[in-house]
Amino acid sequence: MTILRIAGGRVIDPAQHLDEVTDLWIRDEQILGTGPQPEREAERVLDATGKIVCPGLIDMHVHLREPGREEDETIATGTAAALTGGVTSVACMPNTEPALDSQAAAEFVYLQAARAGNANVFPVGAITKARQGAELAEMGGLVEGGAVAFTDDGSPVVSAEIMRRALEYCRMFDKAVLSHCEDLELTRGGVMNEGFESMRLGLRGMPAAAEEVMVHRDIALAELTGGRLHILHVSTAGSVDLIRRARERGVRVSGEACPHHFTLTDRCLRTFDSNYKMAPPLRTQEDVQALIEGLKDGTLEVIATDHAPHAPEKKMRELDQAPNGIIGLETLLPVCILALIIPGHLTWPQLIEKLTISPARVLGIDRGTLRPGAVADVTLIDPDVEWTIDARHFRSKSRNSPFAGWKVRGWAHAVILAGQVKFERNASH
Ligand SMILES: [Zn+2]
Ligand SMILES: [Zn+2]
Repeated sequence: MTILRIAGGRVIDPAQHLDEVTDLWIRDEQILGTGPQPEREAERVLDATGKIVCPGLIDMHVHLREPGREEDETIATGTAAALTGGVTSVACMPNTEPALDSQAAAEFVYLQAARAGNANVFPVGAITKARQGAELAEMGGLVEGGAVAFTDDGSPVVSAEIMRRALEYCRMFDKAVLSHCEDLELTRGGVMNEGFESMRLGLRGMPAAAEEVMVHRDIALAELTGGRLHILHVSTAGSVDLIRRARERGVRVSGEACPHHFTLTDRCLRTFDSNYKMAPPLRTQEDVQALIEGLKDGTLEVIATDHAPHAPEKKMRELDQAPNGIIGLETLLPVCILALIIPGHLTWPQLIEKLTISPARVLGIDRGTLRPGAVADVTLIDPDVEWTIDARHFRSKSRNSPFAGWKVRGWAHAVILAGQVKFERNASH
């Protein structure tokens, strides 16, 4: 039996409405409790003075690229990047090669994650075979293999009929359908948001409506089936509004915002830098404000990165040739602090809720809380340390970040996984 005491930190656990300066105790792999523990002696004490102590962060939208594109990322490097960012659990998207569409494929992810021994990985299964959109994948087998949700992310499910059946099946398994909302006919050939900036730059745009018609469709299908729907990477004011009104009607829909969508706008494309190219694209300042409002009023209950690594030689191509997506695991915390905490949009407990218990609930995983008996995944955050983001230091295999060079505040100080200290910031860095 090993006892670890995390001493004197600000312990925040939104699942228990807990926010106080106290000790957190861990016994072996589990949380023992908080506060004074008479008669107990710890084998190890971590000083958390001035730090925030919270459940290990959960990023429910990550592309790990393995199998098939190991030049961009592997399960080992992606989970190493996760730990550095304070993230103890990731849900990985099924757009690998081959796609994660079978029980064996889900089991492979667990095996590789265990081998790497970094963060927990929870695989998300494909909705359709090979993500081709034509035929439902073997959902029962995927659930057997440990898939925690379903999506064809990277692509939308074009057929409304297949989406309807996916929602019906997932309801039987009590799993969420994660929807990448994009009308491919409206976005064809587009490299950025359609609007003033795309006109000014002479680049082909993708209208907000391309996202919103699909958000609208999927909400209608969730309402029809009673299924549980999660809208990935919400990027427009109109989508926030649709989700807000659906939730008011009692539809089982949750929304997710990505840090790049609530910090950057389509003006960034004036640089023609492909690190500002992703799907959905960066939108306008009004959309950024609507996302922040959605985060504040709870319409958007999850923050996730859509970590999408691409090897430098691919991302360096011309804007119209470069692949969509940016990495985000190692910049998640400081960018959220800069955009949400420092301006006072969210309190620390509100931010931590969107990074812990909310995604845990969407995925139905037993993580995201510091309740006694819970698995001891814990993140210590230094909220005040000032630093400059330097992509050369990333543990991800890829470097495609729009946040390189930003002067920021706060990082993960230490990360504990099932009671083991897996990451510790050394004093000099
Ligand atoms: Zn997507
Ligand atoms: Zn994605």
